[in-house]
Amino acid sequence: MPEGDSVFRLAIRLRAALDGRELVAGELRVPRHGAADLAGRSVLGHETHGKHLLQRFSGGLTLHTRLRLDGSWTVTRAGRVLPRRVQPEVRVRLATTTGTTAWGVSLPIVQLIESRDESSVVGFLGPDPLRSDWDEEEAVRRIAAAPGRAVLEAVRDQRNLAGLGNLWVNEVCFLRGVHPDRPVEEVDVPRLVRLAARMLQHSATHPEAYQITTGDRRRGSSHWVVGRAGRACLRCGTTVVGRGAHPGRTYWCPRCQPAA
Ligand SMILES: [Zn+2]
Repeated sequence: MPEGDSVFRLAIRLRAALDGRELVAGELRVPRHGAADLAGRSVLGHETHGKHLLQRFSGGLTLHTRLRLDGSWTVTRAGRVLPRRVQPEVRVRLATTTGTTAWGVSLPIVQLIESRDESSVVGFLGPDPLRSDWDEEEAVRRIAAAPGRAVLEAVRDQRNLAGLGNLWVNEVCFLRGVHPDRPVEEVDVPRLVRLAARMLQHSATHPEAYQITTGDRRRGSSHWVVGRAGRACLRCGTTVVGRGAHPGRTYWCPRCQPAA
């Protein structure tokens, strides 16, 4: 599932393909920007904040996109195109003078903005453990500001801490032995935030550990509780509980994560 680490890794891939290159075509296949043409502009760089991707172009323009559940990017080399079945889902096509092309597929958000207005799309976000300006104390402060709120919800709120999605918040609550509904005031928030940041950073920077929380890459064993409702807890054998619907489904082990 795309979370902050997914977007971080995506940006590394897109930087290698696009940064410093000039575009021969830059199409945005969304109604709002159908007439936009980025041809002739250079790709200045890629920035991420939480699950948001910002691509900067010469002339002071920034493309803001999100992946949400179904979005993805594919990079093709000169002479290659996307499979025909994917073509109708293309929302962004950035073709460079070298022939390398980046295709944004099924992106739910595609916004072309002035680079000086980037804060209008990411300014509301909390600190991001994958950015150089990560501020752990500020994330803790924001979460602790609503002491009665359920901890899982508070940590997933991108205004408090940007980058943790449903996978990470559920797994981190398990690893801290905290029931997802526990009010923030009953939780050691600094320890939880520190663990979450460390895990997200590790996942983002170690390809072999990407979104693996147990250290076990085998299918069905890579997560402690996510996707394991009705199955035995990997730590204590108690049946893992699931509540709600995908993609916001909550998981916990009633024994490892007591409600009170
Ligand atoms: Zn357990």
